[in-house]
Amino acid sequence: MREANDRADPTAGRARRGRRALCAGIAIAAAGATAFAVGRALGPRIVDLPSPNFGERRPAGAKVKFVVLHYTATETLAQALDILRDPAREVSSHYVVDRDGGVYRLVAEDKRAWHAGAGSWRGEDDVNSVSIGVEIVNAGPPDPFPERQMRAVLALCRDLAARHPGVEFVGHSDVAPDRKVDPGPLFPWSRLAEAGLPNPHVFVRP
Ligand SMILES: [Zn+2]
Repeated sequence: MREANDRADPTAGRARRGRRALCAGIAIAAAGATAFAVGRALGPRIVDLPSPNFGERRPAGAKVKFVVLHYTATETLAQALDILRDPAREVSSHYVVDRDGGVYRLVAEDKRAWHAGAGSWRGEDDVNSVSIGVEIVNAGPPDPFPERQMRAVLALCRDLAARHPGVEFVGHSDVAPDRKVDPGPLFPWSRLAEAGLPNPHVFVRP
């Protein structure tokens, strides 16, 4: 989703300059290497592959209220990373979960990633400022979500719920129903409910 206003973001240039050092990381991801733990300790094992496509939350420090789940509409992780890390495309997400369960962090959680675009949820019209975006590598129906991938999605979501109390898990199709269909009818919202992760699709017992 193009967001012309974000191009003027003063942090964008700094992030873009940092991007050149990341070629080795791209190669690792493209080769399908197993994810390895970096950075601070989180639940799932996460590889940092920074994207230049982000800005400041509005207002800065805005509380995270939602996690927006997407599918990439690509066959592969490499195809998704090419899009989500391309300055010209002006899209990104905080996390990408590969088919093999590898989890990649593109944008720091305190920054505003560009994943939701125009839309609203529970009265919030700037969804990107109050959400974390998770892209799941999947081409769309009839492409299934493999068990290894779902386990990683659930681990990441549990971790996010623990660190952002009260967060609600929604689909891109919830916040932008006129434009978006992801993560699609095959995404197992019941698995999130079973894990105690609140979402508007399946009731979660308090
Ligand atoms: Zn989406």
